[in-house]
Amino acid sequence: MVKGERYLETLYNSYGQSFSIDKVLFESQTEHQHLIIFDNAQFGRVMALDGVIQTTEKDEFIYHEMLTHTPILAHGNAKRVLIIGGGDGGILREVLRHQRIEHVTMVEIDASVVEMCKTYLPNHSAGAFDDPRTNLVICDGREFVRNCQDKFDVIISDSTDPIGPGEALFTSDFYQGCANCLNDDGILVTQNGVCFMQLDEVTTTAKRLSPYFSDQSFYKAAVPTYIGGDMTFAWASHNPQQRQHNIDTIRARFEQANIRTRWYTPQLHLGSFALPQYVLDALAE
Ligand code: SAM
Repeated sequence: MVKGERYLETLYNSYGQSFSIDKVLFESQTEHQHLIIFDNAQFGRVMALDGVIQTTEKDEFIYHEMLTHTPILAHGNAKRVLIIGGGDGGILREVLRHQRIEHVTMVEIDASVVEMCKTYLPNHSAGAFDDPRTNLVICDGREFVRNCQDKFDVIISDSTDPIGPGEALFTSDFYQGCANCLNDDGILVTQNGVCFMQLDEVTTTAKRLSPYFSDQSFYKAAVPTYIGGDMTFAWASHNPQQRQHNIDTIRARFEQANIRTRWYTPQLHLGSFALPQYVLDALAE
């Protein structure tokens, strides 16, 4: 919400962050959600949807590196990736840095987000939408996986919070659809909220994922503008080994990928799966 010269995030009623607005670059009510992109002295360009901060130029690398390199390097031989959401293109950019990836389908519900982020946040996608391996589909992610006949090695759900169109991407039938689209050794990871503030999202996702995946857990990373603590990522596969690789395996795969990162390291990969006791207790209930 814009109030005078400040943007007030409205994700939580009783707590929130605000940004000075140095310049509004774009604002509209799209077919699906309210979209604003503005300049802020601290975080550079900022994009918000329906009152919730989605991404900033300053800290986007943390989230985009952890939600891509962790599952792809854990898988070890990913060739086909499905991205659900991800309209700013940051996830697509990081996935395509893996030369062994042959095909990426990206399913985004709101074409305006893609177009406006290409225009005002060009460094997020950095040309990824023009990569010959990219197949952009504009539709609802839950519909897509419900009807998809293709199979993928890694599925990344880079959704908004479960508000408005994003709600569909936190449902059992979305997770069932993802399970149907994954190869036997496939891995699903999803944006799953800030566990200190949205612990119910963690426990609900665990309950909804477990009927379709024999191995389910979470990993985490601290992203400054996802306020309130660590951002939690849901993890689901049929092989517990894939989240329990030793450091030598992950380091060797990372070196072979020959990717320079600013946040992700093999040590952080392993450490990100260590969850706080209060989260473990909530999951055990
Ligand atoms: N990194 C951000 C976060 O953690 O909140 C998410 C960024 S990305 C902008 C979220 C994208 O999900 C948006 O582009 C939004 O349009 C898209 N989205 C929301 N609901 C969707 C749905 N049902 N199907 C496909 N895309 C959806």
